[in-house]
Amino acid sequence: TPVAIVCVGMAGSGKTTFMQRINAHLHTLHQQSPSTTAPPYVVNLDPAVRSVPFESNIDIRDSVNYKEVMKQYNLGPNGGILTSLNLFSTKIDQVMGLLEKRCLPSKQPPPQTTDTTTPPKSLPSHILLDTPGQIEVFVWSASGQILLSSLASSFPTVLAYIIDTPRTTASTSTFMSNMLYAISILYKTRLPMILVFNKTDVKDEGEAVEWMRDFEAFQAALRAEEEEVEMRGGSGGAGYMGSLLNSMSLVLEEFYNALSVVGVSSMTGDGVERFFEAVEGKRQEFEREYQPELERRR
Ligand code: GDP
Ligand code: MG
Repeated sequence: TPVAIVCVGMAGSGKTTFMQRINAHLHTLHQQSPSTTAPPYVVNLDPAVRSVPFESNIDIRDSVNYKEVMKQYNLGPNGGILTSLNLFSTKIDQVMGLLEKRCLPSKQPPPQTTDTTTPPKSLPSHILLDTPGQIEVFVWSASGQILLSSLASSFPTVLAYIIDTPRTTASTSTFMSNMLYAISILYKTRLPMILVFNKTDVKDEGEAVEWMRDFEAFQAALRAEEEEVEMRGGSGGAGYMGSLLNSMSLVLEEFYNALSVVGVSSMTGDGVERFFEAVEGKRQEFEREYQPELERRR
């Protein structure tokens, strides 16, 4: 069974560029051994994207016209995206039918013959999904939830949470808000998650990983920032933030332990192999921990 990778992350974190990179990587693998793996099956769920830099098998823009939806329902950009996603999710049965037909072995029993002239058609090893730039529209909407849970009921499903590393590690508070957002998504979706620190060609993931693995290092960075603010004559609001972080440290530790972390550059392709290793680990985790839970809830 192929594994579904859903790319989520803040607008501008690099989801689409990352999709393009892992798509290209899988296409290369396919070209190296065409008989064993088919190219990935690609789904674009961003109705507002102007041009997609990769070929997609299913594109939300083929079934809903975002601009028209905005006009017709008199909506702004976010409402337009949400409504487009809602309209698309009403066709989820068709979408899942298509995915199952293209990505799962056919349910008919193999014909009882010794004819081996037609080798079995290879199936894609990965399904890649890109999501709207406005992460909250996808993660917190009913339709996003419908899409994710339908997907997870047929395929092992893994979230790739893409992070703009240079921007996120610019300050401890930006870092913390991004991590809290990832936590909320992890608990909301209950799917295995990989943190993808993107744009390592600009700044590597070292500092972020250190902040995650060593709470004292994070606190030291926080203190250094506060001192800097005080030196400039401002009041850092230090006590409040410090004690909040202290009381959160246990939650954070548990969260960090549940995640795989990889640094990649979607620009240069650095780290892409490590990403796919992490996907394999998370697929096993899905089968071990999430699948039984899903079946129990059904
Ligand atoms: P999305 O909104 O999450 O889909 O983000 P995009 O894929 O559209 O990327 C946002 C911006 O970040 C674009 O200008 C990209 O060229 C840039 N970008 C994406 N990945 C990388 C990367 O690995 N390195 C660098 N330097 N820039 C990147
Ligand atoms: Mg995008």
